[in-house]
Formats: sequence, structure tokens, C-alpha cells
Amino acid sequence: MKIYLDIDGTMLHEDHWDNQNLAVAGLAEFLHALRPHETYWLTTHCRDGNPERAREIMKRHIPEELYPDIDRIKPTVWDTLKTDGIDWTSEFIWFDNDISDAEWERFPMADKGQQVYEVNLIENPNQLIEITRDLL
Ligand SMILES: [Mg+2]
Repeated sequence: MKIYLDIDGTMLHEDHWDNQNLAVAGLAEFLHALRPHETYWLTTHCRDGNPERAREIMKRHIPEELYPDIDRIKPTVWDTLKTDGIDWTSEFIWFDNDISDAEWERFPMADKGQQVYEVNLIENPNQLIEITRDLL
């Protein structure tokens, strides 16, 4: 299965000044659990097929032993809608904290193997831990 990953508000906090950019609780275990899957960036930090900026941002906030898990995440190409960067011929889960109405509109037509999971770390700071336990 393919996994699409947002950064801000999904793997790094962006909700409050005192935790801004801090790695979300359970991030290491989440990245470990993604190892069997083909992973892709779906973040504004990577939309031109170049993963360098996304890698740089993540590596500032995680321990070095997780760098290989970051380096294997593949880039995507999209412009306005993240859904344009998704391969709709495959099964996937997309994790993001900020999905637009236009992006949601693609999902009623999606089959069961194509899912979007809206993360809300403000309501539930332990959400990545729960995703790793219940979903991956
Ligand atoms: Mg985000």
C-alpha cells in the first residue's frame, strides 16, 4: 500500500507556539510502522518532485537514526490540490491535518482501499500513537 504524508500539523506540531515544529508523540514508531509501505511526501515542502526541502525540515527535528526512514520517502508533483499528486490507480492512505473541500470531493468516488485520514493534533496530541496501534 502507498502512504502519503503531510509534515506540518501531521508529523511536526504547528498548533501552538511552545511546541511549534516539535516532533509529534510517537513519530519514531509511526515511521518504523511505515517501513513495509511505499511512502510519499504530500506536503507544500515538496510539490515539484524534489524531496530535499521536506527531508531538511524533518531532519531538524528528529534523531539521526530516523534519517533513513525520511530519505526513503519519495517526492510527488502537484500544484493546487494535493490529490493531484496521488496515484489513484493504487491503494493508499493519505495522512494530513488540513484537507480542503476540493480535495475531499475526490473521496466519495474512491474505492475502499483509498483512504484519507484527517489528523487533528490539537484535539488529540497522541493521534500518531493511535494510528500506529490501530491502523498500520
Ligand atoms: Mg499540514
